[in-house]
Amino acid sequence: MNAPAETRKFEAEVAQVLHLVTHSLYSHKEIFLRELISNASDACDKLRFESIAHPELLAGDGELHIDVNWDPAARTVTVRDNGIGMSREEVVANIGTIASSGTRRFLEAMSAEKKADARLIGQFGVGFYSAFVVADRVTVLSRRADLPAGEGVKWESDGQGEYSLEQVELPERGTAVVLHLKADEGEFLKRWQLRSLITRYSDHVAFPIRMPEEKDDKPTDEFETVNAASALWTKPKSEISDEDYQSFYKSLGHDFNDALAWTHNRVEGSQSFTTLLYIPAQPPFDLMMGGRDERKGLKLYIKRVFIMDAAEELLPNYLRFVRGVVDADDLPLNVSREILQQNRQLERIKAACVKRVLDLIEKLARDEPSRFATFYKAFGNTLKEGIAEDHANRARIAKLLRFASTKSEGAAPTVSLDDYIGRAAVGQDTIWYITADGYAAAAGSPQLEAFKAKDVEVLLMADRIDEWMLGSLDEYEGKKLKNVAKGELPLDEVDKAKQEEAAKVAEPLLKKLKELLGDRVGDVKISARLTDSPSCLALSDYEMAPHLARLLREAGQTLPESRPTLEVNPAHALVQRVGTEADEAKARDLATLLLEQAEIAAGAPLPDPAAFVQRMNRLLLG
Ligand code: ADP
Ligand code: MG
Repeated sequence: MNAPAETRKFEAEVAQVLHLVTHSLYSHKEIFLRELISNASDACDKLRFESIAHPELLAGDGELHIDVNWDPAARTVTVRDNGIGMSREEVVANIGTIASSGTRRFLEAMSAEKKADARLIGQFGVGFYSAFVVADRVTVLSRRADLPAGEGVKWESDGQGEYSLEQVELPERGTAVVLHLKADEGEFLKRWQLRSLITRYSDHVAFPIRMPEEKDDKPTDEFETVNAASALWTKPKSEISDEDYQSFYKSLGHDFNDALAWTHNRVEGSQSFTTLLYIPAQPPFDLMMGGRDERKGLKLYIKRVFIMDAAEELLPNYLRFVRGVVDADDLPLNVSREILQQNRQLERIKAACVKRVLDLIEKLARDEPSRFATFYKAFGNTLKEGIAEDHANRARIAKLLRFASTKSEGAAPTVSLDDYIGRAAVGQDTIWYITADGYAAAAGSPQLEAFKAKDVEVLLMADRIDEWMLGSLDEYEGKKLKNVAKGELPLDEVDKAKQEEAAKVAEPLLKKLKELLGDRVGDVKISARLTDSPSCLALSDYEMAPHLARLLREAGQTLPESRPTLEVNPAHALVQRVGTEADEAKARDLATLLLEQAEIAAGAPLPDPAAFVQRMNRLLLG
């Protein structure tokens, strides 16, 4: 079978990635080597897996390895593997025409306001293109392990928009990527330089990475292995240094930062398995995608053979930031994703992974406050999803949550629910909170006034996910969680009597306000929440917070219209003015402003901002 030589155009998005990569990766060009070795290692993994069912694929060349070679005369660096290889169609699909979802995401991340670091390219599934950072021409020679020598393929491109394809004779299976280095990239033609990059970025690739010995600055035919070439997680913990753990993390996660923490465990018994799980120090780029796409980051091995990326099968969504390896002894090697999803043993491994990660976070919270703060800043909001997602661990997760409060400094989330309970007055059986769109809106809310006056702490929930999370967290350690803006406040006997008295006195005033405001309000009441402000909104127990309703409407949802309940402070001069104002038009302006300032403070949209401004100006001048 002979396919014609041809030239094709890169898909538009691939061309954009190439442009970006060549124009924005100046400072850490060397990552190309890690990415190419990572692909070679994946190719060896794939062949080892396929050879379980088809041992003949390994025939004649059973030892999988990766060779890194350089040629000073030709000015090339070559990364070669004897892994699975690619057919012509696969070459086209994987490194040419078809843009993967990662291609688009990489472009988005790089052009987003907060520019992603180009060194993260491998996390986006477009690591191959980093070859063009140092090369002005790249040649790929590849032959799939199950195809004859005559069906090798040669792919070549200068990264400018086109690539050529040609059928060639390749006696050995696998893939060679040949980089024709740019004129000023001569530093990569030195053995020690390549070797130190391998040590730095790829030491813990599980296959041998080999380099030729050197004589007179030139490579010889003698190869030696230059990396550790073993599965790190299979070693006893005592033989693994922190540097080993960190360097394994970096190649596993395509990250260049150290991991924040890790947990490495071996379970022996009726079912034996090893887990090595990392928490990154910074959010991976796909953190916010929340399971919409296929999740990566946790590799499943069975008896040291890589089976598949099984993040979705082994970790719940709210722990999607975890990276790592699970190696099981007792699963059948021929598992498919479908089988995995209903496998009981796997359920147990998953539960163990969750437990290990929560143990690790608890340990950080207990022993390492500053690292815990880093964790919480990066992943606190992701963890909150677990309150709704993981009933079995809800209490453990709730214990790990931190919030700002009326008794903490600034916006930093530092108060745990246990801190709150520890400080609460004897007999206080409610954990009070307020939700708002942002810390300032929460901290400045008039609804907090009565609580401050009585020295009752209120948690300030300012993240969008909080409201949603609280739907699944109405109790902690036997105490109810309640929103200060909702329903009746529990008043002690003295307050209650005062409140009833005030309501009686204010009855004509309330009647007047209701008439003036007409159908803009559902009801007007005397407030027990206010001490300094004239007015605020109150919600019924089942009503959605106004800032949240606004967000949902802006996102296109239709919500039932509900008219707010206005609460007023009869001791406030402005409220009293409404009662005494004889001019009806002026009284209506004043009453409407009382409502509108309550709406603004609660993050509700003003129905008619222009009318609001006119009204305010009339009163300022009158
Ligand atoms: P990723 O490795 O995240 O999939 P890359 O851009 O690094 O993204 O590689 C794209 C694809 O090209 C790989 O998924 C693989 O299918 C193919 N590929 C790259 N290098 C090799 C290789 N050495 N052997 C076999 N396939 C390869
Ligand atoms: Mg890759």
